[in-house]
Amino acid sequence: MKKFLLATLSLMIFLTGCGLNKPKEPQQDTLDKIKSRGKIIVGVKYDSKPFGFLDENNQIQGFDVDVAREIAKYILGDPNAVEFKQVTASNRIFMLTSDAVDVVIATMTINPKRLEVVDFSQPYYIAGQAIMIPKNSPIRGIKDLNNRKVIIVLGSTSEKNIRMMAPEALIQGFRTYNDAFSALKADRGDAMTTDDSILYGFAGSDSSYKILPDRYTKEPYGIAIKKSPETETLRMTIDEALYQMQHNGTLNRIKHKWVK
Ligand code: GLU
Repeated sequence: MKKFLLATLSLMIFLTGCGLNKPKEPQQDTLDKIKSRGKIIVGVKYDSKPFGFLDENNQIQGFDVDVAREIAKYILGDPNAVEFKQVTASNRIFMLTSDAVDVVIATMTINPKRLEVVDFSQPYYIAGQAIMIPKNSPIRGIKDLNNRKVIIVLGSTSEKNIRMMAPEALIQGFRTYNDAFSALKADRGDAMTTDDSILYGFAGSDSSYKILPDRYTKEPYGIAIKKSPETETLRMTIDEALYQMQHNGTLNRIKHKWVK
């Protein structure tokens, strides 16, 4: 009897163990999911003119938006088969990992730290970190930022870089680039630093500000994709689309349209 009980008990433990180790259901391939849904969901910035911004009619526009439309055309045969969702520098990785978007096209620099958590396409644009100041400011370069108030956007590479390159700078962090620029205009900082590509958008629309000539980093922008076996075909397809856009002149056309 004792033997029988022991045998039953081991069998139960064995079966429970089997349940726990049951292999995960294979997830649907992300590219197939996009095709059967009939649209791709893309995270873009709403505050980073000329890459992603709302125009006077509240329509989303910009370099990244045009790249997204080309990707939709390549995958689904229709540049309008895209749903745009707003992302910010600090929430874009979470938007990907939580499946709120299929991809992020949002002035996002490819770097080793981010590659630990998400995958990236090949680069499609290269920016560089710059400094923007009021026209009459005495600031001439990065060293002058020590002991001065420097405006950055939280979660950006510029935040990390400035903490290293001007360790005594008094960092003023904001969630969006529009908030950051409003703070600069309200004299809540002596300078603002981020990619030249984004600073051009602000300096181009307000002549009281200028961008200093030095560039302190190279910021290769990539399309970010969730890191998982299900996204492998999507990443490869996006790279194919970018390759085609590079070789047929589409990427250059988009660049000239938005970056002067
Ligand atoms: N390219 C930089 C980054 O990925 C700065 C621009 C941004 O905040 O998106 O952090």
